Amino acid sequence: MTDAIVIHGWCANFCQSAICGDLPTNGADPDEHGRWCHSRTMFVEGIDVGGHQRVAYVEAVAEYVHGVLTPEQNALHNRLYNVVGLSIVGGPDPDIVLTAGEARQLAAALNHFADVVTGIDRPAPRYR
Ligand SMILES: [Zn+2]
Repeated sequence: MTDAIVIHGWCANFCQSAICGDLPTNGADPDEHGRWCHSRTMFVEGIDVGGHQRVAYVEAVAEYVHGVLTPEQNALHNRLYNVVGLSIVGGPDPDIVLTAGEARQLAAALNHFADVVTGIDRPAPRYR
């Protein structure tokens, strides 16, 4: 394999499984550690348009790699390292990952639209 890149596995400092000692950490085989380092999970319950309960999860995640990557795999790994994972359904992997900037953009949009739907973005009423 040409241009192979050797990556030593380092757990993210927020990896809850490593902090708790539930999983092997730095240098561990990815089959033992799992693909992701996960932080604590924050969740919110909502409903879908059919009225069924749905849960959205948000957490810090980092792809855990220990081994040899192609340049293409390494480029994707760099995009999946220390990102914010968002999952609508739940499960072991995030449905989408966001950079810190993208996560802040989403958070700002969520705050903005929460203001819009509750009407607090309107001008204050004037009383005489
Ligand atoms: Zn980890």
